[in-house]
This record gives sequence, C-alpha cells and structure tokens, in this order.
Amino acid sequence: MRVGLYPGSFDPITNGHIDIIERSLSIVDKLIVAIGVSATKTPLFSFEDRAAMIDSEIGALAKQKGVELSVVDFNGLLVDEAKKHGAGLIIRGLRNAEDFEYEAQMTAMNRAMAPEVETVFLTASPDVSFISSTLVRQILAMGGDISPFVPKVVLENI
Ligand code: ADP
Repeated sequence: MRVGLYPGSFDPITNGHIDIIERSLSIVDKLIVAIGVSATKTPLFSFEDRAAMIDSEIGALAKQKGVELSVVDFNGLLVDEAKKHGAGLIIRGLRNAEDFEYEAQMTAMNRAMAPEVETVFLTASPDVSFISSTLVRQILAMGGDISPFVPKVVLENI
C-alpha cells in the first residue's frame, strides 16, 4: 500500500492545493493531508475548520478513486510525521523557482534524516500556479474578492 503525506498550512485551502491533492489521488492508495498548525501565527481558520473544508472538498473524490483520505494536524518534524503514519512519500507542490530552491534544500535535509521517506514534487497546473494562501489571506483582509482562488466551501465558511 502506497501511503503519501501532503503537508501544508492550508489556511485556507486553495484551488492550487486541490489541484495537487486531486492529482495525488492517482499515485497513492492512502493520502494523509497533514495540517501544520503552528505555521501560521494568527490563523484565519482553526484546524477543525480547515480539516472539515478539505474533507468536504476532497472526501467524495477520494472515495470514488478508492483512496483512503485522512486529515491530521502536526507540530513536529515532517519526517517524524511521515514515519508515524507509515508514509513512504511526502508530496509537495512546486509553483516556481523560489519554491524549488526552498523545497530542494528542505528535501535534502529530510532525506539525510530519513532516507526511507521519498519526496515527490508535482508541478502546479498553469491555471492555479500563482495562488498562495498567504496572498489569499491578505486579499481577504483588505476586502478583496477571493472567489477565483478558493473552493466554494471556503467562501461559505468566512
Ligand atoms: P501556501 O504556500 O500557499 O501558504 P502551504 O504552505 O499550505 O501553502 O503549501 C503546502 C504545499 O502546497 C506546498 O508544497 C506548496 O508548494 C503547495 N502549494 C501551495 N499553493 C500551491 C499552488 N497554487 N499550486 C501548487 N502547489 C501549491
């Protein structure tokens, strides 16, 4: 059984995250979406809300594809979290060269700590590659319209 762990802050989940999750469902038998709860100091959504939104957005599709989906929170080292869940794959999305620089370094350090855990990268689909949760939060704080960037469930929960 191929178990993948997709970590992030998902505050809020965006169309970019959904694209990565949907594509991940084709490469794993079980997907753990791990919400880093301490990553955002003043979160827009609680862990529970973020988890519920991910589940409502992806749950049905995961079921349809026969993939077991679970959403967990985590605080510690990513490789420890992967090992805890028996995940041999860490899944990350790459939007641009800046993501690559950061991710390549982090991956190398993770591999040094846990060589049995492999990191796989999915390049962002062009239509969502510019979206980031950080910018979505900023637009929202300034009263802008975030509907092009996030699923409906996020708009319903604001
Ligand atoms: P953000 O960087 O938007 O705050 P996260 O920290 O939750 O989001 O990111 C979790 C993972 O999702 C990272 O691997 C990140 O590169 C990836 N990701 C975020 N936004 C997108 C996007 N628009 N397209 C593809 N991958 C993305």
